[in-house]
Amino acid sequence: MKKTEKKQGGFRAPKGMQDLMGKDFYNYQGLCEKASEIAEDYGFKPISTPILEETGVFTSGVGTGTDIVEKEMYSLKTKSGTQLSMRPEGTAPIMRAYIEHGMQTLPQPVMLYYYGNFYRHERPQKGRLREFRQFGLETLGSDKSIGDAIIIKIAMTILEEAGIKNLSLHINSIGDRFCRNTYKKDLVNYYKKNSGEICRDCAKRIKTNPLRVLDCKDPKCQEIKAGAPQSVSYLCDACKQHFKEVLEYLESLGIEYKINHNLVRGLDYYTRTVFEFITKVPSEENGSGQNDPTKEGEKKEPEMIEIALGGGGRYNQLARALGNKKDIPAAGVGLGLDRIIMCKDFKPIMPRSLKKPKFYFIQLGFEAKLQSLRIIEILRKARIGVMHSLNKDSLSAQLATVEKLKIPYAIILGQKEVIEKTVIIRNMEDRSQDEVKVEDLGKYIKKLK
Ligand code: AMP
Repeated sequence: MKKTEKKQGGFRAPKGMQDLMGKDFYNYQGLCEKASEIAEDYGFKPISTPILEETGVFTSGVGTGTDIVEKEMYSLKTKSGTQLSMRPEGTAPIMRAYIEHGMQTLPQPVMLYYYGNFYRHERPQKGRLREFRQFGLETLGSDKSIGDAIIIKIAMTILEEAGIKNLSLHINSIGDRFCRNTYKKDLVNYYKKNSGEICRDCAKRIKTNPLRVLDCKDPKCQEIKAGAPQSVSYLCDACKQHFKEVLEYLESLGIEYKINHNLVRGLDYYTRTVFEFITKVPSEENGSGQNDPTKEGEKKEPEMIEIALGGGGRYNQLARALGNKKDIPAAGVGLGLDRIIMCKDFKPIMPRSLKKPKFYFIQLGFEAKLQSLRIIEILRKARIGVMHSLNKDSLSAQLATVEKLKIPYAIILGQKEVIEKTVIIRNMEDRSQDEVKVEDLGKYIKKLK
């Protein structure tokens, strides 16, 4: 078959990428709306950056020794020869935008939130897609520990509002460029001493990205990992104080945490605080979460595995890696929306556009129909959701729909009301009615709400 020919049976979405529709679409939309609302309540403002960035944003920012840059980026060269990549993560593009638009001149910190699609060419499996969705928060321009704490608190609130239970916050500090260097050296020396007992990947990692050895899941490395030096023992006074303050904020907010000495998050830009939100889900083999009967009467418990629903940290060095003359202290988090929605406890949040309206608009006669769209527009401008069926003509058919949908108020516009520039508001429960001037409609209804 020639490459340009259609495949038998038609085309399919690329491997590891999914069409989002029906319930899944609404779950995503509702969750993004809720997360945005929470972020706005905390004073964060929205930003949307391009899906394509110059490749350097990621190679310089995230780092060439990281998996997402080294192995997983979708990259292309434009006709004019510019090397672009599809964003594998959201933080480096936001720092790029902060520098490009001179946001240093704004009151600091600049607090931004975003959501959208990200791309990593990974092996697709449950909870691991090649196109996935994230909601993220970044606070840029402040090195204060309260920034780290706010990010964690908001992310936690979003996860809780989404119904997620059994959530555990893992946290660690990997120090800054100075104290981490000594730590890295000691870690590499320790692994070199034990090179006979580590897996091939770790042997590579100690050369390219040593901290990643602490992520290794290979059973062969577990004993060595358990005895490895811990980053917190190497923190300089300033980093130690910062970490202590972050933990104090969490305690005062009543957020439980677990210090995880193996948590490093592997991207070059992290400094000081790193954290992840972990939950447990049934493993892929018994991904349905249902017990599978082995022998009669005996049920096998599904094996539970830990997955990260989100992660983040402080990244004071990223700006300089992107070519800025000075460091710009910042902290952020990215939440994996596909994984949150996949969780058993996920509580769907109804998108605003689907919320059941309190008002149903009824029109009678041609003149009223002519005026209908004007009145619906008045209501829409006043942000009052209203249902209608403009193709119906009879009062009884329209009232029957209102009853059936259990909508509390009907707004009725007949011939007489058109002439008098009024509408009737009918309370469907006690059947009382009010005549209201069209110009006062918005105000009247707001009072009712
Ligand atoms: P990261 O910054 O890479 O830890 O990503 C933040 C969060 O995004 C993770 O904790 C996951 O919940 C989610 N995530 C990362 N990669 C993927 C992927 N390939 N598929 C689905 N979700 C992902």
